[in-house]
Amino acid sequence: MFFSKMTEFMNYSQQAIQAARYIGQGFIVTLDHMNRLPMTIQYPYEKLIPSERFRGRIHFEFDKCIACEVCVRVCPINLPVVDWELRKTMKKKQLKSYSIDFGICIFCGNCVEYCPTNCLSMTEEYELSTYDRHELNYDQIALSRLPISIVEDSTIEIISNLTSLSKRVMEGHSNSRNVTNSSN
Ligand code: SF4
Ligand code: SF4
Repeated sequence: MFFSKMTEFMNYSQQAIQAARYIGQGFIVTLDHMNRLPMTIQYPYEKLIPSERFRGRIHFEFDKCIACEVCVRVCPINLPVVDWELRKTMKKKQLKSYSIDFGICIFCGNCVEYCPTNCLSMTEEYELSTYDRHELNYDQIALSRLPISIVEDSTIEIISNLTSLSKRVMEGHSNSRNVTNSSN
């Protein structure tokens, strides 16, 4: 009886010591994370460069558009509004206005892909928030505005994304928090 109680107590103590050891190891590993440089991208002072094929706000060139409406047919929600009239003398469609509502657009890029004259293109612009949802309905003038380039903005620090970094570099901050450094 006495021995079985003793064994039970010893087992219990061993398990308690093991558990304490696990907690201690966990603490050490967690504390070690404090030595690492944070990977936070400090928006809006730091911004990540969107990748080459980023699907941001659509850019539209009025002069190139032939009012074929392909962009409307391939759009999952038939979104672009193409207003045109037939010029009988020229036997040609004349584009009157063109608009896309970015409150509804899902930025899939189908319209850009299928436009026969390449008058639509995707930009790297993603800061499109407004207070009034009607302001998201971009007409041809708003759509033809050149995108604001993150790279050309001298007030912010730009951070390269993972795909544009060289081999073994995992993170784009200028003070080089990469695989080679972290192993030092
Ligand atoms: S990006 Fe997609 S959802 Fe937006 S207008 Fe083009 S086809 Fe339509
Ligand atoms: S597919 Fe291109 S050319 Fe045709 S209506 Fe749309 S934007 Fe214009």
